[in-house]
Amino acid sequence: MTDTHTPYPPELMRDVAKRRTFAIISHPDAGKTTLTEKLLLFGGAIQLAGTVKARKSARHATSDWMEVEKQRGISVTSSVMQFDYQGHTINLLDTPGHEDFSEDTYRVLTAVDAAVMVIDAAKGVEAQTIKLLDVCRLRDTPIITFVNKLDREVREPFDLLAEIEDVLKIQCAPVTWPLGMGKAFRGVYHLQEDRVLRFTAGEEKRSEAEVIKGIANAQLDALFPMEIGQLREDVELIQGASNPFMLGEFLAGKQTPVFFGSGINNFGVQEILQALIDWAPPPQARDAGSRMVQPAEEKFSGFVFKIQANMDPKHRDRIAFFRICSGRYSSGMKVRHVRAGREMKLANALTFMANERVLKDDGVAGDIIGIHNHGQLQIGDTLTEGEALGFKGIPYFSPELFRAARLRDPLKSKQLQKGLQELGEEGAIQVFELEGGNMLLGAVGVLQFEVVAQRLKDEYKVDAIFESADIHTARWLTFPDELTRRNFEREQAHRMGKDVDGNPVYLASSRYNLEVTMEKWPKVGFHATREHG
Ligand code: GDP
Repeated sequence: MTDTHTPYPPELMRDVAKRRTFAIISHPDAGKTTLTEKLLLFGGAIQLAGTVKARKSARHATSDWMEVEKQRGISVTSSVMQFDYQGHTINLLDTPGHEDFSEDTYRVLTAVDAAVMVIDAAKGVEAQTIKLLDVCRLRDTPIITFVNKLDREVREPFDLLAEIEDVLKIQCAPVTWPLGMGKAFRGVYHLQEDRVLRFTAGEEKRSEAEVIKGIANAQLDALFPMEIGQLREDVELIQGASNPFMLGEFLAGKQTPVFFGSGINNFGVQEILQALIDWAPPPQARDAGSRMVQPAEEKFSGFVFKIQANMDPKHRDRIAFFRICSGRYSSGMKVRHVRAGREMKLANALTFMANERVLKDDGVAGDIIGIHNHGQLQIGDTLTEGEALGFKGIPYFSPELFRAARLRDPLKSKQLQKGLQELGEEGAIQVFELEGGNMLLGAVGVLQFEVVAQRLKDEYKVDAIFESADIHTARWLTFPDELTRRNFEREQAHRMGKDVDGNPVYLASSRYNLEVTMEKWPKVGFHATREHG
């Protein structure tokens, strides 16, 4: 355990306390891109509405991978957006925007300290909201909820809260409450501050929404004769029946403060920023295997949570996205690559600023740096200033879709193997080697196969076909002893494979097949997730 007598450097403690690192999670179309843009706008990081939107459409306008390739420079820089707000440094980590739920998203969520969940008020809790929240729950990540699109005809707010509580199993503490909705959306009432913030439609940034103090204020009756009665009834009900916001419960991931608004109209966005600053946690201690690492420890450490191929396919340069967990990054510093047992120099790492005019060359816990490398760094790798730490918690998930890779030109099998190995290490797809050397691909979203096929063609000059494979799910195996392992492997050879790191995996043909095998081998561990590293 950490020596609590060691005082941490005061400047480091101060800088760490100012960090807020978070991601936005939502089902596609709920308004994540819009909210991202408005947060940057209010944070002063961009001047013009439409900037992030243009990036998004640039990324999604075409399914042609070469086009996507050209856009990669953009997607690298927009993967992490850092900006300053009210004396704090905020890191907003983008999660992949495509409908296909990707493993990248899981991994990005291991690098944040909080998340903002956007719910479309007309649709409520949707499929990906559920999956993403499950991932947040693995680390009890605190969640701030933004119920969006109140300018539309939407569902009853009580209904929405009940659904969030029932489906997502998280307690809701409303902080603001809508006054009317759709065409009659008039604003929100701030339950803690006892004031109504008036809504006006429009995309321009306003310094302050108009405020009316006190729910009993006669001005409200005059302004909103049709809606105010309902609000007063609702508020009475909330005060009687719903949970008050409790910081401790929020930080434990058990309760979520709920805000209502309309992202596109800039309404409710400032409250989200305020909640991030006031309530979301600064970087916390992290489990590094042998001990907990405190964020303000003097020595530098952190881990790679995402790898992205860079602009130039010829050089196969990759960017490793690295979350700093302690100490301070400075350009040119020497660090230890724990898995490889080597020293490496961190020169020219990318630091991320949403406002490109500001250049920065340092980082502390909570910040992300992008490290150029040629494949030395893998997802889950830990870098330190000497100590053999290993940060925990970056999972591989059992894929939901499987395809067998087959070559059009059998002479290219070396290239195929190399390509798949590298793409597997990069985390673009999961790769399993079967008995006899055949390669099996596993993905969470079907787009991953298309991307891999295209990249094999462009970067490795391999024309591969992916055929459907008769596999239902994969389980990572652990054995109580050598003998059991050997017996199991002999009996189940035809259902076994190895992942890119050489770990044994059971490839079940059906749920039934898995159950039968598990029953027959009670001492063998069958795991649906595996940690990197
Ligand atoms: P994402 O897929 O979650 O990133 O969602 P987007 O931010 O792209 O938003 C999806 C659609 O909803 C777009 O057409 C937005 O203009 C629209 N939208 C976002 N916020 C609001 C809102 O507050 N009100 C209304 N009416 N539409 C919104």
